[in-house]
Amino acid sequence: MTVKVRFAPSPTGRLHVGNVRTALINWLFARKMGGEFLLRFDDTDPERSKQEYVDGIKADLSWLGLDWDDSFHQSSRFDEYDAAVLKLKEAGLLYACYETPEELERKRKIALSRGRPPVYDRAALELTDAEKAALEAEGRKPHWRFKLSGEPCVWNDLVRGEQSIDTSSISDPVLVRADGSYLYTLPSVVDDINAKITHVVRGEDHVTNSGAQIEIFRALGGSSPDMAHTPLLVGADGQGLSKRLGSLSIQQLREDGFEAMSVLSLLAKIGTSDPVELRENLAILSDEFDFAKIGRAPARFDEKDLFNLNSQIVHSLPFEDVKAKLGALPLGDQATAEFWELVSPNLQLVKDAGIWLQVVYGDISADIPDEDRDYVAGASALLPDGEITAESWSIWTSALKTASGRKGKGLFMPLRLALTGQSRGPEMDKMIVALGREKVLKRLG
Ligand code: GLU
Repeated sequence: MTVKVRFAPSPTGRLHVGNVRTALINWLFARKMGGEFLLRFDDTDPERSKQEYVDGIKADLSWLGLDWDDSFHQSSRFDEYDAAVLKLKEAGLLYACYETPEELERKRKIALSRGRPPVYDRAALELTDAEKAALEAEGRKPHWRFKLSGEPCVWNDLVRGEQSIDTSSISDPVLVRADGSYLYTLPSVVDDINAKITHVVRGEDHVTNSGAQIEIFRALGGSSPDMAHTPLLVGADGQGLSKRLGSLSIQQLREDGFEAMSVLSLLAKIGTSDPVELRENLAILSDEFDFAKIGRAPARFDEKDLFNLNSQIVHSLPFEDVKAKLGALPLGDQATAEFWELVSPNLQLVKDAGIWLQVVYGDISADIPDEDRDYVAGASALLPDGEITAESWSIWTSALKTASGRKGKGLFMPLRLALTGQSRGPEMDKMIVALGREKVLKRLG
């Protein structure tokens, strides 16, 4: 059996970290199994679906390196959905309902007030042909519900283990709205059958859907694919995805300067039994992928981890690879390999090199505390003569130590502040070499 999976975003916005994780898990599994990864656009809602989001989603996946073997749009497949509707109607499994949203809401409230679950009461199943005709004469148009079996629907979930959804505890799902438009439930099943999807891998918010969809698979004469429902992402505090994180888009992360492999490493490893560590490429991540490693607890997305992983990549990037990115920053055209070697160990993002470009190649302003002013101004007298070399810093600061009686932070910090305008940063012995004698003297005042 060749594994075939799909990632099915609705093109109503850009990809955020949550749905990219679903895409990634599908992709890693497909590649590990030598299978296929399809990209399906769930665009049955013509109002909200936009071509710019289709293009954006493709750009996001491409940037991450998640290539797809084929892609298609649900909006091109309405004939297939209509045929499935016919089949379900003929089997007596799709029935017309005429309640307005207000009537349904009233039924819901009554059920709740009587301590009953708010499950649709199937009143429409009792309607006679004459009653239906009368309702239609009033101008009502039917919406269509799938008749669930009322039996437990059981499957062995690749992440959650044995699952049982009691279909008598959920409402018969509406598959077709009164205006004839489709809800997500049916088209997804029709497409999964048609594309011969072997595994449906998605977030656990779809578990209840799966109970109904498995019955629809069977009603349409297919067998249901294997299912895997992954726990959702939560923020660092474990309190559910914060608003910021819920809308944290891949586009944003990319613009912020994160490297694709730090985003991918984090999303592949959180919520699994593997440690969250940087991996060099997608092939390694897919080799290491296993549904059995995915736990039941929510996956914790901590931006601190993302910064850590990204720092590791940035520290190992050769100058040649960042030259273009540095070049896009102010003064970045002056950056040299030595500059990169000096500043990269302190960076989380390549673009954070911006302040150091300013420090090394531009001008700074430094805020020296009053008590350090004389010390800083007097320090130039003890700067070793000639060109500044790798040894100059230690010779200079030893001399300053003896002359001023200062030590530790009191000895070094005023110099760092005066020379870079920053209270932390690259090692000063290398920094003064990069600055050169003229700048050092000028900044000491
Ligand atoms: N468009 C659906 C969603 O984004 C797809 C769910 C599925 O994978 O079946 O939630």
